Amino acid sequence: MNCPKCQGTMEEGFQVDYGHYNARKVTEWVEGEPQPSFWSGVSLGGVARLPIQVWRCQSCGYLESYARQTTAKL
Ligand SMILES: [Zn+2]
Repeated sequence: MNCPKCQGTMEEGFQVDYGHYNARKVTEWVEGEPQPSFWSGVSLGGVARLPIQVWRCQSCGYLESYARQTTAKL
């Protein structure tokens, strides 16, 4: 895959969230608009969630994100 901005080489990666006790977790795409929850910050009941793959251009640093249905759950 080449960068859409500068045609440089893209490398695969992912974004990390830090939870309680700095537990690391792959950032997810979540269907719909965020619904505030008193207990957990944002409610995720019954909505689709997908891990986000992020490709980074080694030349200019451009980031491109994908939330593919076929990606293995992390
Ligand atoms: Zn680039």
